[in-house]
Amino acid sequence: MRYDIIIIGAGPAGLSAAIYSARGGLKTAIFEKGMIGGQINVTDEVENYPGFEEPLSGFDLTDKMHKQAQRFGADFIDEEITAMGLEGLCKIVETTENKYRAKSVIICTGAHPRRLNVPGEEQFTGRGVSYCATCDGALYRDKTVAVVGGGDSAIEEGLFLTRFAKKVYVIHRRDSLRAQKIIQDRAYKNPKMEFIWDSVVQEIRGETKVQDLEIYNRKTNQITHIPMDGVFIYVGILPNNELLESRIELDSSGFVLTDEYMHTNVPGIYAAGDIRHTVLRQVVTATSDGAIAAWSAEKWIIENYDSLEV
Ligand code: NAP
Repeated sequence: MRYDIIIIGAGPAGLSAAIYSARGGLKTAIFEKGMIGGQINVTDEVENYPGFEEPLSGFDLTDKMHKQAQRFGADFIDEEITAMGLEGLCKIVETTENKYRAKSVIICTGAHPRRLNVPGEEQFTGRGVSYCATCDGALYRDKTVAVVGGGDSAIEEGLFLTRFAKKVYVIHRRDSLRAQKIIQDRAYKNPKMEFIWDSVVQEIRGETKVQDLEIYNRKTNQITHIPMDGVFIYVGILPNNELLESRIELDSSGFVLTDEYMHTNVPGIYAAGDIRHTVLRQVVTATSDGAIAAWSAEKWIIENYDSLEV
């Protein structure tokens, strides 16, 4: 099967690229092996995406993008990609079921939560350890929970957890938060939130489920044990770069390096959204990246092929 543009990943970046590409008359396929919408799907309230006066859920926002891309004729393909040949003018994308060809490929594979890598984390995942307050928060009604991290995710999700839990500890390795000020202010005002500064979780302990956390204070060297029903880990994100050939240039953390046109170092290959080395990872920046990538890919196709016909 042949396409003008193949987009890999249907989060906000990929969906935006698909809207621009398909609306521009390019034959467009967008691959997603998981849930359409990507990471933002598990966000309960998005209130900083322009155009919506009231907050809406991540699912509702990406559902609208999905329908918009479908309306312009983008093909959504839920096959798992196993290999890619990105060199030359004809790009190859192989899945477990088929082989696809395209003139240009836009990589929007996103990122996933970083693990703490402490004893008990893996053992109790799904039994008190979670990476998604929106998914699991309601299980902790009147319980005591902790969020680990000091970024937007930890504080926003911690605030969300105060709807259910009787107490939400924020355990952060420094003595100031990285989260946006407006979110910090809300957290400081929330009587259910308590901050444990300069501290890291050393061990997540329990028998069949999480029962307490061993916490180490990096300034005082003190170790404390706090009884806990659940712990939500938000210590950053890692790129989903497993599929990328060694040819694509990455930064030291594994995110794809692009120029301002979203072009990677490989001709005809673009990257957009969380997979990209960037200063800000928001839905609005992902959708902007996606639009630029689709526009750049179209220009590249026009310059490198005689016709837009497949
Ligand atoms: P982040 O901004 O990278 O924050 C990660 C936090 O975890 C930091 O506070 C960091 O501490 C801490 N940390 C990292 N490794 C750790 C470790 N091994 N042990 C303990 N703590 C550790 O990640 P994020 O909060 O997931 O956000 C990711 C991106 O999405 C950001 O660009 C963020 O702005 C964006 N985001 C935006 C919104 C929004 O605008 N509404 C919501 C969610 C996410 P240090 O501070 O000491 O480095």
